[in-house]
Amino acid sequence: MRNYYIAGNWKMHKTRAEAADLAAALVARLKDGKHKYLVAPGFTLLETVAPIIKGSNILLGAQNCAPEEQGAHTGETSVLQLKDLGVQVVILGHSERRHVYKEDDALINKKVKLALRQGLDVILCIGELLEEREEGRAEQVCETQTVKGLEGVQADDLSRVTLAYEPVWAIGTGKTATPEDADAIHAYVRGVIRKLYGESAAQRIIIQYGGSVKADNAAQLMAKENIDGALVGGAALKADSFVPIAKFS
Ligand code: PEP
Repeated sequence: MRNYYIAGNWKMHKTRAEAADLAAALVARLKDGKHKYLVAPGFTLLETVAPIIKGSNILLGAQNCAPEEQGAHTGETSVLQLKDLGVQVVILGHSERRHVYKEDDALINKKVKLALRQGLDVILCIGELLEEREEGRAEQVCETQTVKGLEGVQADDLSRVTLAYEPVWAIGTGKTATPEDADAIHAYVRGVIRKLYGESAAQRIIIQYGGSVKADNAAQLMAKENIDGALVGGAALKADSFVPIAKFS
């Protein structure tokens, strides 16, 4: 049985004081929550949020990391620095990293392997652009991103990887994939994992959906067989909008 996993990506939002308030509100309001939870504040907020959520049922995530462990990489943030702050999970391959900052599958794969090697869990984001969907290539794009993103990841480490299917056209646009369309891609991607790692890995892997998830669509999405949680952007910025998603029933 897979546990639901609800993650909030705060992107490049919030000051330290605002982040502290949100983290404290989430700790209080999710303490009786039944699912697995994560927040991913910006790098400069991690040190503020870490002690607030420590000991709670909310994991600390980062939104990215460098592909190298350390060294002369101006402007980058190392997994070692993230671990030092108490980060447990890193989100990699987010569509904004792929499409705005031009990260390709090879770079993302390097980060995935480094993060796993250093003991961090990974949320690997995949998802097609609108034109790719319109050309009937959504499955192929998601398969390629999954296969290349996981290249060289051993079966033993796959239990520390969560996939997040985020159709790019649904991120921050208010357009959500229908639960049926999302579930179809999730089922397809689960099949890709089956081919790569076998049946039991395919059954175990958590596949989150992301793209304009809100309180009023979370339950329908999560009711689908292959949708195991959500990666939430905009609605993760306020406790009043994130908590009802996190506590969907
Ligand atoms: C995201 O950026 O991962 C995301 C899903 O954003 P939103 O919920 O705002 O669409």
